[in-house]
Amino acid sequence: MGKIIYGSELSDELREKMKEEISFIIKEGRRVPCLAVVLVGEDPASVSYVRGKEKACESIGMTSRHIALPAAVSMEELRETVAALNGDESVDGILVQFPLPDHLDQNEIIKLIDPAKDVDGLNPINIGRLYMGEDGLRPCTPLGIMELLKRMECPVDGMHAAVVGRSQLVGTPVAKLLTDANATVTVCHSHTRNMKEICREADILVAAIGKPKFFTRDYVKEGAYVIDVGINRTEDGHLVGDVDFDDVKDKAGYITPVPKGVGPMTITMLLKNTIRAYEVRHAGL
Ligand code: NAP
Repeated sequence: MGKIIYGSELSDELREKMKEEISFIIKEGRRVPCLAVVLVGEDPASVSYVRGKEKACESIGMTSRHIALPAAVSMEELRETVAALNGDESVDGILVQFPLPDHLDQNEIIKLIDPAKDVDGLNPINIGRLYMGEDGLRPCTPLGIMELLKRMECPVDGMHAAVVGRSQLVGTPVAKLLTDANATVTVCHSHTRNMKEICREADILVAAIGKPKFFTRDYVKEGAYVIDVGINRTEDGHLVGDVDFDDVKDKAGYITPVPKGVGPMTITMLLKNTIRAYEVRHAGL
């Protein structure tokens, strides 16, 4: 039986440490870090994600500011909102909840966020820094995946990692982080041939395609480190990953579940990035 690694437990531990950092900041009489969350419209999934992020801030004593805009907000108004947050000295991190309604240009908004406050790590400056090996804010889910591998005590160095999915949010940046950690990385996508064989040879499998229970045990090497990023809702309202957990868990050495796996780690890394953005800005003041 593979060892199940709960991101929820690791998150609790990391958040406890962050709580101590915030207490220390308060004791020193400094302003508490603040995350501004912009929500456009009332899409139920987005409302629930935003609530989760705000609750997470609260749980460690961090301030959050909620900016709710109507679904019909213009690009100009959204631009002005982001510009105001960029210029607001009391805001350390800015998160615009995606997806945005169709009439708004998501990429343009990402580009407008001050790279120093871009706690999602998706601004082209931060992406560029990642690829140039420079310090910067990294995307949250890939950071969470690397923390989970650390918790698994996965050596990474010299291992073969198969990353399935090449999105800018998950697959592409996590492939870069794994390469930086000296893994040999194969990135697979919807045009990949012999994907099953590639995955079956991988010591580390990162599944990020958004297809429920796609990865059965035939895709998994005996003893592999399996990270399931997928979040898929079944017809009866349950959440399942991209990995067929029950089928794979005995073959994998380590495996993350869904829910309680990568999801909580993504939010925890958002908190970490916000504290980091705060500290870097303060160091520069
Ligand atoms: P995305 O932008 O839709 O990208 C999906 C990727 O999977 C694409 O690169 C696509 O290939 C590839 N793909 C799709 N079907 C495939 C198949 N049958 N075989 C091989 N590759 C296939 O998705 P995403 O944003 O990266 O998210 C992926 C999953 O992770 C989703 O379930 C999402 O909800 C979840 N997610 C979870 C978290 C978390 O915190 N746990 C965070 C972000 C995302 P092409 O490029 O060729 O189209």
